[in-house]
Amino acid sequence: MQTLIPASWAAVGHGIPNVCSRHGLPPTLRARTRFESAPAGWTYALIPLGLLVFLIVRATTRQVVDAPVWHYCGRCRTRRRRQRLWFGLLTAVGFAVPVAAVALNVGEPALPLLLAAALITVIVGYIGLVRARWEVIAQARVTRDGQWIAVRDPAPEFDAEFTAAMTAAHQQYVPPAAPAAQPAGTAAPAGTGWTSPR
Ligand SMILES: [Zn+2]
Repeated sequence: MQTLIPASWAAVGHGIPNVCSRHGLPPTLRARTRFESAPAGWTYALIPLGLLVFLIVRATTRQVVDAPVWHYCGRCRTRRRRQRLWFGLLTAVGFAVPVAAVALNVGEPALPLLLAAALITVIVGYIGLVRARWEVIAQARVTRDGQWIAVRDPAPEFDAEFTAAMTAAHQQYVPPAAPAAQPAGTAAPAGTGWTSPR
């Protein structure tokens, strides 16, 4: 299940629920969050041409929405802090191993194994750090057309607040019946939020 929030709303902070999207809890932090779209499937076909080509095409085809307001609860923040700590440590260890190996004069056959292990450690650490970004904590991405922010498996409280904001907006946009065309004494249609003057 996902909740689709118009990118135009998110960009100005309109209708963003006052609970976090992951847990549905009251926020302890309100943070500017940069949401991006997932790379289109075909861009992965460019990887054999080189990682740089892939990254350039990825950067030029990506849709970005910079949301000035998004809410995070205490659990979201703990999750991010832990992830940054552990994966940051892992990355640091990955960088330290080759340095230590050279300093300790480790030779064949242990050296290639150590370097391979260090490389894997750095990659895992880096992926973990990327996964600690706010947009991942919020479980949201921009759709490929750039029109929506799709929140994956939002907390029911988040979804309910957004649905309420959406309903309120729709009611505002119902065109009120032209007063001239209305027979005198007829009440305004229900649900438009208009009341007839007395
Ligand atoms: Zn949360």
